[in-house]
Amino acid sequence: MQTRTARLMDGTALARRVVEETSVRAAEITRRTGVTPCLATVLVGEDPASVTYVRMKRARCAKAGIDSRLVSLPAATTTAELVGTLRTLSQDPAVHGILLQHPVGPHIDERAAFEAIAPEKDVDGVTMSSFASMSFGRPGFASCTPGGIMRLLDAYDVELTGRRAVVVGRSAILGKPVGMLLLARDATVTYCHSRTADLAAAVREADVVVAAVGRPRLIRGEDIRPGAVVIDAGYNAGNVGDVDFDTARTRAGLITPVPGGVGPMTIAVLLEQTVDAASAQLGLATR
Ligand code: NAP
Repeated sequence: MQTRTARLMDGTALARRVVEETSVRAAEITRRTGVTPCLATVLVGEDPASVTYVRMKRARCAKAGIDSRLVSLPAATTTAELVGTLRTLSQDPAVHGILLQHPVGPHIDERAAFEAIAPEKDVDGVTMSSFASMSFGRPGFASCTPGGIMRLLDAYDVELTGRRAVVVGRSAILGKPVGMLLLARDATVTYCHSRTADLAAAVREADVVVAAVGRPRLIRGEDIRPGAVVIDAGYNAGNVGDVDFDTARTRAGLITPVPGGVGPMTIAVLLEQTVDAASAQLGLATR
């Protein structure tokens, strides 16, 4: 019997193209206005993973011709202090986008902090205002990982209308918004979460599976419908996703690798949305 091998969805290559286009747009803004698009990244404490993510995002900004301003706050920062910092950045005309690296520590009210980011600078798409705009199909910034997932689906011409999409995970930054974006594209969306009675049964019905959990190989390959599209947003220790890749790729039609699938797209969308924000704030035409 011949074994199927899914086509890989190459997030690294697509992200490179998005970043290249973004760099051209950033340079054009600088040439026309003398102002370089600027992303402020706010880091609370010194969690090694967060420090690495922020360093990576700032390096990508630099390569794309986007300025980045790092605001490092001590781990003991209070909610009020963090809210104050984010409000100040929201009012600073030299800053076009704001990224609060999370998690921010259990003593901080993360939602209150996110809500201190002005919607027009919410390039990471974390505020309730951004979520509402996205859900109502209004202009605004998508949450970056969901936005990146949609770009990947489009780049590989995945038809969504009428297809059954199963999103595993319902976090505010990933599961919930990606479900809303799929719904907006006329997919029939099912959300699964830690209380879902029979996850495998739901996955078996899916034409499109989005795994957004953070549990290594939770989605078994044998539950993937033949020919399904599998998007693995999970990232677990040892470069392992939420999907059992080796078996899933023998059944799926298209599948994202981990790493090199969803991850690079997240940063690409962040940079793109920073340039969108700068264009809008400087009164230039947007995409
Ligand atoms: P999160 O806030 O911890 O949410 C995890 C979700 O998974 C929750 O909705 C939870 O359900 C659900 N869940 C937990 N155990 C489950 C189980 N056994 N069966 C079904 N659902 C279960 O995580 P997140 O921030 O959304 O991140 C999810 C994953 O994506 C992580 O691996 C993270 O590293 C990765 N991620 C990647 C990127 C990227 O750029 N590639 C960006 C963000 C996140 P309840 O709601 O019921 O608790």
